[in-house]
Amino acid sequence: MTMSKPRVGIYGLTSCAGDQLAILNCEDELVSLAQALDIKSWVMAQSVNDEESPLDIALVEGVVGTERDLETLKDVRERAKVLIAIGTCAVWGGVAAMKNHLSRERMRELVYGAGAEHIDAQKALPLKSVVDVDYELPGCPIEKHQFLTLIGSLLHGDLPEFPQVPVCSECKMNENECLLVHHGQVCCGALTLAGCGARCPSLNVPCVGCHGPVEEAHYNANYRALRAHNISKDDIHKRMGIFSSPAWMPKVLVQDESLGREA
Ligand code: SF4
Ligand code: SF4
Ligand code: SF4
Repeated sequence: MTMSKPRVGIYGLTSCAGDQLAILNCEDELVSLAQALDIKSWVMAQSVNDEESPLDIALVEGVVGTERDLETLKDVRERAKVLIAIGTCAVWGGVAAMKNHLSRERMRELVYGAGAEHIDAQKALPLKSVVDVDYELPGCPIEKHQFLTLIGSLLHGDLPEFPQVPVCSECKMNENECLLVHHGQVCCGALTLAGCGARCPSLNVPCVGCHGPVEEAHYNANYRALRAHNISKDDIHKRMGIFSSPAWMPKVLVQDESLGREA
């Protein structure tokens, strides 16, 4: 079914707003986007917003980290035909989920000092742990070309299928010298979903996994390769846990990770 002028809402839960900013940064395409979409709500970009109408598409950034996030997300889910998680936080918990390892009390004390009042901060959860999500577009922030492809597909009543391959594939296509194999650096490219064009290793910076895990990643093989370069277990686990809370990683990664920890 082709949608004509779909009603769209763009929302930010607990987040850095980087994914919404990535949309705003589509400068050359913004006018076309505004013409093609009936943007009902986008607090970051417009001052008059409609929070009552049904939506054809809701794009939601960030984690569910507060009671207010939960209410917003449930309301948006009820009103939207298609709900899309944008950004690694919304898809995997992202950097926000790193705080899940600390108790609320300890976190409050560390941030606000002893004796601080109650703060509305829960565990940081990806959207799919709370509501049904129709499509996920990871990235920290999302990639502009993927976002525009997504919108183009939605306008034709479809959803895009991006290649489910690791960053290493794009790195090899760029003919980069491998930072892990040749330089012993902790590069997470083999575990991370492609889409960025291997941006970091192409600039001689190891991948830190900001697109989240790729399906069927071989954690153990990667782990052994890193260990062979005398990179400590702590360094490996810290790096790999930055953008993807283990609680939400694909099962194979979690199982392999626990094996890796025992090695
Ligand atoms: S995925 Fe990255 S850019 Fe998006 S909200 Fe999270 S930290 Fe910000
Ligand atoms: S540098 Fe990183 S992304 Fe590139 S091939 Fe090596 S491990 Fe993969
Ligand atoms: S190379 Fe890795 S860290 Fe860099 S943008 Fe791509 S997925 Fe993110």
